[in-house]
Amino acid sequence: MPITISVLKEAPNENRVALSPTVVSKLVKSDYQVLVEKDAGSRAFYQDAAYTDAGAKVVDQATAIKGATIIAAVNQPSSEVVDQMSEGQSLIGLLAPLTDTDFVKKLAAKKINALSFELLPRTVSRAQTMDVLSSQSSVAGYKAALMAADHFSRYFPMMITAAGTAKPAKVLVLGTGVAGLQAIGTANRLGAMVSGYDIRPASRGEVESLGATFLTTSVSGSGEGGYARALTPEETAQQQEELAGFIAQNDVIITTAQVPGRRPPVLVTQKSVDEAKPGTLFIDLAASDLGGNVAGSKPAETVTTANGAQIVGAGDMASQLPASASDMFAKNVQAVITDITEDGKLVFDIDDDVVGELLATYQGEIISNRLRSAMELPERKPAAQAQDDTQTPDEAKDDAKGVD
Ligand code: NAD
Repeated sequence: MPITISVLKEAPNENRVALSPTVVSKLVKSDYQVLVEKDAGSRAFYQDAAYTDAGAKVVDQATAIKGATIIAAVNQPSSEVVDQMSEGQSLIGLLAPLTDTDFVKKLAAKKINALSFELLPRTVSRAQTMDVLSSQSSVAGYKAALMAADHFSRYFPMMITAAGTAKPAKVLVLGTGVAGLQAIGTANRLGAMVSGYDIRPASRGEVESLGATFLTTSVSGSGEGGYARALTPEETAQQQEELAGFIAQNDVIITTAQVPGRRPPVLVTQKSVDEAKPGTLFIDLAASDLGGNVAGSKPAETVTTANGAQIVGAGDMASQLPASASDMFAKNVQAVITDITEDGKLVFDIDDDVVGELLATYQGEIISNRLRSAMELPERKPAAQAQDDTQTPDEAKDDAKGVD
């Protein structure tokens, strides 16, 4: 029996699809079978016929679920989908395990093996082709800058015309990780005057190399693994106050700040929004049901304030460039599935430095130590080390001497 990868249609607010026809064709040539739910790719402009031409079978949802060795999804599938899955089937996608531990418990109880991209150890070089957070953030940052230029009531570049000179727009990007840097690069190419700000001082070089100005406050917050740490309430207040000055001097503020597994920090307070000049545009990439970086932002909505500023809840930017985002997502999925395939079977090596972290659940257990820590579970040790820990001191000595 070949490994069967099933792709389901995402929820109505999601335009992306987990596999593109190009990747399906490569998988089929490598002896995987692919089932695609009818219309799964239509919102990313991938029609059923393109999947059929690539060698997939287009089927109804129940058939795709039942026939799957592994289901590839962009976002957490609905509980109706999970209810139809059975023990031993696998699931890969952005499953939000760190913020929705009830979903993780449900998968574990059903003994579904779940790989979640949020858990990928991104600094391990083998994992870079699997890095959905980077590929989707990059798309999101680009689209955010385009959307900013489109929504802004003035030119982005300086324009010298017979009817006068237009000043360039001043764009400030708060949070200069993958999305922020892409937004800076894109806004720069559109001719705006761009500056960037982050609490990780290490990002200064990246911002400056793109030709933007790096701004700092007295608050610095580098955390583990290259990420930012959550700030204390006092640091947050201090940061917000210092940022208010920068915000007031800019026309467009694109915010991308995230702290993994937590609510996004509020960088633009209600006071800063209330004091913004008319026409000021806030594009909040962190806007989600968990909150956002801008006070008053609402996911997937544009709010116009009483003082004439606009706040765009832009947490769905990758979904707004669905074909490119899906292409990259699909390549990331392909990289993981290829990595865990051995002799025509999916093999989950829970002690592997990448797979052992990417795995939220396996055979009913919570595997990723990052997830275990978020769920207040004790650290899981690699099998060899766990065995060593259960040895008596004499057995350990014998092992060290090579005694059977
Ligand atoms: P992210 O999406 O988690 O957060 C976006 C940005 O928000 C980050 O730059 C973060 O520092 C910033 N931020 C968080 N809280 C903030 C606050 N209170 N004020 C201002 N800024 C705040 O970040 P990301 O894009 O996933 O990148 C995080 C880090 O991981 C970066 O250093 C990036 O270079 C690194 N990274 C490394 C690899 C790799 O090694 N292959 C791949 C991807 C990302």
